[in-house]
Amino acid sequence: MDKKKLKQYETKLNEYRNMLLGMVERTEDYGREADRDVSQDPADKASNSYTKELLFSQSTNERNTLKLIEEALERVHDGSFGECLNCGEDIQPKRLDAIPWAPYCIKCQELQEQGLLADKEE
Ligand SMILES: [Zn+2]
Repeated sequence: MDKKKLKQYETKLNEYRNMLLGMVERTEDYGREADRDVSQDPADKASNSYTKELLFSQSTNERNTLKLIEEALERVHDGSFGECLNCGEDIQPKRLDAIPWAPYCIKCQELQEQGLLADKEE
């Protein structure tokens, strides 16, 4: 991949990273806020725990994406960015434009979603 293009992806990744870090922080603040509010009737409590549930799954998603972004930034630095982690083929540029932190090409992503890809996590 040419340096200019790589730099663009790096900039994009850093922007997403900062955005997500801000979101995770706000979500955690909001969760603590909801915890402090003790003067609630049971209906409020139920909706509060629903909200917290929602926030929790949302922040889990954000954290997962953050992790993928950080791994992608590492690949930018070690020069392997843009290669599929599974088969080593170049990831389609269109896919990288949409999801610059995508670790797999479309083919391997599908395998992964079907649980057919060996888990390469440490
Ligand atoms: Zn692949």
